[in-house]
Amino acid sequence: MANWPALAALIRRVGRPLVVEALRAWAEVRRGQPDVADPDACASWCEGRLAGLANPTLRRVFNLTGTVLHTNLGRALMAEEAIEAAVTAMRSPATLEYDLEGAGRGERDDHIAPWLCRLTGAEAATAVNNNAGAVLIALSALAAGREVIVSRGELIEIGGAFRIPDIMARAGCRLVEVGTTNRTHLRDYAAAIGPDTAAIMKVHPSNYAVQGFTKSVTAAELVPLAREKGLPVIEDLGSGTLVDLEIWGLPHEPTAREAIDAGIDVVTFSGDKLLGGPQAGLVVGKKSFIERIAKNPLKRALRLDKVRLAALEATLRLYADPEKLVQRVPTIRTLARPATEIHAQAERLLPALVQALGAGWQAGIKPVRGQIGSGALPVDLLPSFALSVKAQGKGGGLDKLAEAFRRLPIPVIGRIQDETLLFDLRTLDDEAAFAAQLTSTLTLLPLEGEGQGGGA
Ligand SMILES: *Cc1c(COP(=O)(O)O)cnc(C)c1O
Repeated sequence: MANWPALAALIRRVGRPLVVEALRAWAEVRRGQPDVADPDACASWCEGRLAGLANPTLRRVFNLTGTVLHTNLGRALMAEEAIEAAVTAMRSPATLEYDLEGAGRGERDDHIAPWLCRLTGAEAATAVNNNAGAVLIALSALAAGREVIVSRGELIEIGGAFRIPDIMARAGCRLVEVGTTNRTHLRDYAAAIGPDTAAIMKVHPSNYAVQGFTKSVTAAELVPLAREKGLPVIEDLGSGTLVDLEIWGLPHEPTAREAIDAGIDVVTFSGDKLLGGPQAGLVVGKKSFIERIAKNPLKRALRLDKVRLAALEATLRLYADPEKLVQRVPTIRTLARPATEIHAQAERLLPALVQALGAGWQAGIKPVRGQIGSGALPVDLLPSFALSVKAQGKGGGLDKLAEAFRRLPIPVIGRIQDETLLFDLRTLDDEAAFAAQLTSTLTLLPLEGEGQGGGA
């Protein structure tokens, strides 16, 4: 079959192995059917099957969901400086573990540790694959085989199966729960400390808030107790920022420096949440503990590659000048964007949207509340504006319309709320590319039946 001319063209285009794979599938599907040996039927079936492979599956999209740090859409967008550093590291050999002055071996962490120390006030720092990895390695290095005390109000689960009790078990630690869901007192911690206690852990309740009759013990209260008993305090800050977000009128989110100033021994946080860098788990704190963490065998399993290290170093460098962060770090720029500016953008885009939709839809501008996402500040919502679309008349078809937007050359992802399709514009920075896609009505309207639409 592979000699058929129609297949030869296909082989030239996508290569032999994929065509052979498609042929096998065709033979399987059409086994015993009269057309199994029909070259044209076979070639066009194979072509259809292979068309699905033409586009990469990891694609650029417009995140207009209203969630700025959307985990499923890849969280933080990186600063140009970080992108350039990453590209250079990808293209060329680099001083990943090489010390140019001594012409000898260097340490991966040397690229980022001085910056992390400078920016947080910590004595030492290291970095691993992500914050889940940072928590795992910190617990494993400092408390394996022993007990770690955690408040019941902080036994969090965040998406993707990160649960404190499970991580604790994986790290080989025994979890000792203290207090209750809503109230934990210093005396609860004190009573739980025994000969087998290795550490006390605090976890930032990043994706929920316990409200009402509550009590939790602050780091400042906890540290003196831990010191007296000779125990380290580990804090998982989650998002953990390096700057006070209040500068930009945002609600307060704990900074890594505050945790260090409060005397926390080991602080962990993510690189791709509020920091606005690549995926990474940052660990800062006392030198003796960071050294133990960096020497742990898990460090090798969880280490960062040169691409992310380059991007992380470049991102951290930007924090040296906080005043320029708004211009340079997309995450901060997006969070700090004034609602008036978003509204003006909505007004610019609405006419094109109305035209692209055609009859049957009612488009407008709606005040909405977005969120930071990735667990940061769960109860504080960002005032914003969305392009909104409702079905005129009896309604229906909104899911199909949302699907049509997802089929655009650069898929547009919004959210449906109260029978309205919303595109929150806080996160739209490439307005030109978005508008360009709205110029063609045709791409938006293959809504009936099976039609596949233009796609790209
Ligand atoms: C997000 C988060 C994590 C996990 O961080 P990753 O970088 O996604 O691994 C752990 N703990 C808390 C409190 C978080 O908010």
